[in-house]
Amino acid sequence: SPPVLFSTPMSPRNANYAIQVTLDAGKHTLRGEERIRWRNITDTPATDAWFHLYLNAFANDHTVFMTESRGQLRGDAFDKEHWGYCQVRTIALVGADGARIPLVQLFPREDHTVMRVVLPAPVPPGGEAVFEVAFEDQLPRVFARAGFAGTFNMAGQWFPKLGVFQGAKGWNCHEYHANTEFFSDFGVYDVSITVPADYVVGATGVLWQEVRHGAEKTLSFHAEDVHDFAWAAQPDFVDRTETYMGVQIRVLMQPGNRASIPRYFAAVKEDLKDYAEWIWKYPYPEITVVDPPMNGMGAGGMEYPTFITAGASPFLGKRILIPEVTVVHEFGHQYWYGMEADNEFERAWLDEGINSYYEARIMDKWYGSEKSFVDDLWGWNLGEEAQERMAYLSLPDMDPIVLDAWKYFSSRSYDAITYDKSALVLKTLENQLGRKKMDEVMRAFFMQVKFTHPDTRDFVRIVSQAAGQDLAPVLDPMLYGTGTVDFRVALVRNVPQSPPEGYDLAGSAPVLYSKGKDKKQERKGPPKAPFKESYDSTVVVERRGSLVLPVEVAIEFSDGTTRTERWNGEGRYTTWTFSGPKVVRVVADPKDLVPLDLNRLNNGWVDEGDGAVARCMTTRFRVLYQSLVAMLFNIL
Ligand SMILES: [Zn+2]
Repeated sequence: SPPVLFSTPMSPRNANYAIQVTLDAGKHTLRGEERIRWRNITDTPATDAWFHLYLNAFANDHTVFMTESRGQLRGDAFDKEHWGYCQVRTIALVGADGARIPLVQLFPREDHTVMRVVLPAPVPPGGEAVFEVAFEDQLPRVFARAGFAGTFNMAGQWFPKLGVFQGAKGWNCHEYHANTEFFSDFGVYDVSITVPADYVVGATGVLWQEVRHGAEKTLSFHAEDVHDFAWAAQPDFVDRTETYMGVQIRVLMQPGNRASIPRYFAAVKEDLKDYAEWIWKYPYPEITVVDPPMNGMGAGGMEYPTFITAGASPFLGKRILIPEVTVVHEFGHQYWYGMEADNEFERAWLDEGINSYYEARIMDKWYGSEKSFVDDLWGWNLGEEAQERMAYLSLPDMDPIVLDAWKYFSSRSYDAITYDKSALVLKTLENQLGRKKMDEVMRAFFMQVKFTHPDTRDFVRIVSQAAGQDLAPVLDPMLYGTGTVDFRVALVRNVPQSPPEGYDLAGSAPVLYSKGKDKKQERKGPPKAPFKESYDSTVVVERRGSLVLPVEVAIEFSDGTTRTERWNGEGRYTTWTFSGPKVVRVVADPKDLVPLDLNRLNNGWVDEGDGAVARCMTTRFRVLYQSLVAMLFNIL
């Protein structure tokens, strides 16, 4: 019998799956039978049950997914020679006496990615329903995450799967949209996979039994406290395992990418270490990393519980850190998606945004913040934050962060906002709270919401509690609004101070001071005091856009001193005046603490009499080069 992984359940375990599935490696079909044990953990009786049949997104070109994506996703194009589907052959409710009550399949939504059955009797709060489902999948050619490519088979979103019952709100069970990912309840999974005997299989959970029968073999996997189950099979995976911090790391690599195996292991270890320190020790006994083939890259860069897909290529040199970034990102989803289990259809920032924030932190820590994305490619470097800024700037204000994923203006907007703006918002929060406090509030958030389904309100509430201040005024405009911010040095004026001219009224009678044109003319009044070069200076910094954020401004003077002024960002602009040495340089946000700033080229002002102009140009060219690199990546 399967092992017990956690003697005390970490999650409610109210959606449990036992599945037997057989891969027909020639036809790329899966024939399966599943038994779903579901418990109603709400206080409302359930009169029906809703299921996702995700693979039906690829059944034809009229599905919601194909209509929205127009057959293009994440740089991959759909192959119309190889459609896919998930067909429920039979579904029955298992009665208390063991009798099977056949259920009628209904399709209430726009396509067949959502199936509904009406229950013969309501399932009361705390009550259970057991479903038996026989199904058949045709895997499409790899396009969006799942499918086959040659002998590579990626089974993701492959079995009929319950939506999430939300009590009075009913079932949360959306169609499979082009921009959306998934949402499910936690449970125990026991999955037996039958494949040709020469296939190597990686899957969610631990492998506890392998039985050979004729030309086939059956592998039994067991997982606890997860909300999905994925697996991949291919005969010639290079199969490597290492153990680190008590976790078995398994890498299933394409033979041609052997050289990148150490890069995958290193990235997983960095993640395990940093997450243990910052958030929580990874609780599962294993993590599997699958490397898809070049012609199946649509399956790459994807997260499932204790199972991730990455992406390497012999053509990607060591200078472009895509393999590392991908593994660091997808592993991070074990926390932000896996254990956090937010509704990815509706609030994707809670997984993608938080995860991207940590991705940048981990990459910066291990590879250096200036080169954590591109490391010396023909002399060019690109850091993660710079890369996130480029992506954010490409479409910064069409949509807010808190939005149903399918409602975004475009997939580009979805990416720019959900991943990049969200990560930069968290970076902004970190810059305001300090790294130590940030770690405390994020740990508090994770520990309070793990194995639940948190929403944005939970995030703001918990981080406010942990920070000891109401962060809603800071966070809400960034999360719910589309406002932007651009700090700009609007004006710098240095007016030389000079001896007074005109009447001096300080004495009993007016005294005329006159410099006159005629140098021979005697000066009236007191003799000229030795006059030190001095200026009355004015500095005006403007905040463009409707997002109000505080900013620091560094003001450098001709005597070499620098003052740092702080502005809370309220009002359209603020003015500082100084009397003394000349202002020679002004930089708004000198430490880059406002990564959402739309334009950093207008953050600086340099006195033209100063050699610093050259420095300014250097900065400008660096930014331009980085933009070019970013554009290149967007085109590729
Ligand atoms: Zn992600």
